[in-house]
Amino acid sequence: MDGKILYDWPDKDFDESLRFTDSRQLGNEPYDVVIVGAGVVGCGLAYKLSQYQLRILLIDKNYDVGEGASKGNSAIVHSGFDAQVGSLESQLVRQASNQWPELAEKLKIPYKKCGAMVLAIDDSQQAQLDKIYKKALSNGVDDVELLTPAEARELESNISRGAQGGLLVPGEAIGDPFVTCIALAEVALANGVDILLGAAVISVENAGKMVKTLVISSGHRIDTRFIVNAAGLGSRRLADLYGGGTFEINPRRGQFLIFDKCSNFILNRILLPIPTSRTKGVLVIPTIFGNLLAGPTAEDFPPDCEEMSHTTIDRLQSLLADASLMLPSIIEQPVIGTYAGVRCHCHQGSYFIRVDDGAKGILTVTGIRSTGFTSFPALADYLVQLLADKCELSLSPDANAVDGRPESSWPGWWSKPIENTQRIKERPEYGQTVCFCEHISRGEIIDALDSPLKPRTLDAIKRRTRALTGRCQSFECQLGVAEIISRHFGMGLNEITKYGPGTAIISPSLLPDK
Ligand SMILES: Cc1cc2nc3c(=O)[nH]c(=O)nc-3n(C[C@H](O)[C@H](O)[C@H](O)COP(=O)(O)OP(=O)(O)OC[C@H]3O[C@@H](n4cnc5c(N)ncnc54)[C@H](O)[C@@H]3O)c2cc1C
Repeated sequence: MDGKILYDWPDKDFDESLRFTDSRQLGNEPYDVVIVGAGVVGCGLAYKLSQYQLRILLIDKNYDVGEGASKGNSAIVHSGFDAQVGSLESQLVRQASNQWPELAEKLKIPYKKCGAMVLAIDDSQQAQLDKIYKKALSNGVDDVELLTPAEARELESNISRGAQGGLLVPGEAIGDPFVTCIALAEVALANGVDILLGAAVISVENAGKMVKTLVISSGHRIDTRFIVNAAGLGSRRLADLYGGGTFEINPRRGQFLIFDKCSNFILNRILLPIPTSRTKGVLVIPTIFGNLLAGPTAEDFPPDCEEMSHTTIDRLQSLLADASLMLPSIIEQPVIGTYAGVRCHCHQGSYFIRVDDGAKGILTVTGIRSTGFTSFPALADYLVQLLADKCELSLSPDANAVDGRPESSWPGWWSKPIENTQRIKERPEYGQTVCFCEHISRGEIIDALDSPLKPRTLDAIKRRTRALTGRCQSFECQLGVAEIISRHFGMGLNEITKYGPGTAIISPSLLPDK
C-alpha cells in the first residue's frame, strides 16, 4: 500500500488532503526508522529500506525532495578513478558506478556514459597525468588511457593549443540530479514509506530510550525506534539535538555557469583540469539535458552559515577564465544561467558515518561532500547493512515491494510527447506548448502536478519537466505554468510559490485591494 505524502504547509487554504495538521495522520504506532533529510542520500536509503517490512518516515524541511546539495551539483556519475585509494568513498563510488546503468533503467532516470578527459595544459601538469593514471589503476579503473597532445585533440578538437597531453576516462557518466531523488522517493512511497515535507526537526526527546521523539518546527511530535541523520549541512545541528559525537562541518560553495544548448558542439565529454589537493578544480561538463556547464568553485564558509547558495559575479568571471584555459572557445558561448550548490565538507573526513551516535539506534551519515550523487546506491546498501548488523534493526524482505517505476515515468523531455503525433492525438494537451525553449507541453505540466509526490511549487514542476529552465530562464513561461497550477487545483495565482511558503511569485503589494 502507498505511503502518505504530507506537507507541513502553514497556509490554511493549502490542499486539505495533503496538509499535515496532526501527528495522528501518520498513525499511532512509532516508526521503525525516521530518515531526516530527503537529499539523494536520504531518498536512496528510503528506497532501499522500502524493500523490507518496516514503518519508515522520510522527512525534510524543504517543500520537495532533493532541494539541498542534491540539486546543485555537477551531475557526474563518477567512475572513481581519482578517489582516495583504499577509502570507503572509493569503494562505494566504484560499486555504485557499476550499479548505475541497471538502476537508471529500473528507476526510469536518464543516464549517459559520455566519458571524460583530464587535461594537462603545461609541462608541470603533464608530470601529474602519470600519477593520476596510476591512481586510477589502483582504484580498479583500468580502462583509462594516456593521450598524446595530438590524440587528445583528435578526440576534442576545441581544447587549448597548448595542451601537453590527457588522460581518457571512458567510465565517467552524467545523469539528472533532480529526477533521481524524485524517482527514489516515488518508489519508496509506492512501497509504503511516508514522506513529510516542510518539516524541520528542531528537537529530539528521549534519545536514549527505545522509542525516541522528534519534534518538528510546527510543534508536532513523531515517535520512532531508529533515527538516521542524513541532513547534510544540517547534520551537525541535528546531531547536537541528540548528543552526537564530535565532528565539524564547513559548507563549501560551488558556483556554476550554464551555457545555452547551442554551445554543446564544442565538447563531447567531461573536461577536467589536473586537481589540487583541495579540489577537482573547474570542469567543463556536458549536461544530460544538452547544455554545457562550467564549474564548480570551491569557497569555504564558517560552520553555521547554512544559506549561501547565491552566485557572485567575481567568482563566475574567474571560473570562466579557468575553464577557458582548457577550452578557449567557451568564452564566446552564451551563458543562460548560473547556480550554486553547497558541499557538506566534514573536517573529520568524507563519508563520516557513526553508529549509535550519542544514543543507541541513531545513525549519523555526514560529509558526503563531492560524490553522493554517484555513490547513493552503494552507500544505501552499506547503511542498510550497518543498521542490520550494528544497530540490530531486523530486516524481513517485503515480497510485494517494487524496485522501479512504471515505463510512463520517464521525464517528458527525455522522449518528448510533443514530437509524437500519436500521443498528441490521444491527449491534445501534449500538443499545447507552454515552454518554447525546452518544448514542454501543458500535458507534461499536468502529469507532473498529478505525479506521486503531488508537487505544488514552481521549482518542483521545473525539476520534473524542465519548463522554466531554458534559454529564456522562465521569462516567457513562468506565468503560463503558474496559471496551469492555479487552474488545475483551483488556487489563486497569489498562492503559487517558487519553493514554498514565503516565496509567492506575486508580491502581496501588487494584488488589488479586496
Ligand atoms: C558544487 C557541487 C558539485 C558536486 N558534484 C557532484 C558530482 O558531479 N557527482 C557526485 O556524485 N556528487 C557531486 N556532488 C556531491 C553531491 O551533490 C552530494 O554528495 C549529495 O547531494 C549529498 O546528498 P545529501 O542527501 O547528503 O545532502 P542534501 O542533498 O543536502 O540533503 C540534506 C537534506 O537535509 C535536509 N535537512 C537539513 N536539516 C534538517 C532538519 N533539521 N530537519 C529536516 N530536514 C533537514 C535539507 O533540507 C536537505 O534537503 C557535488 C556537490 C556540490 C555542492
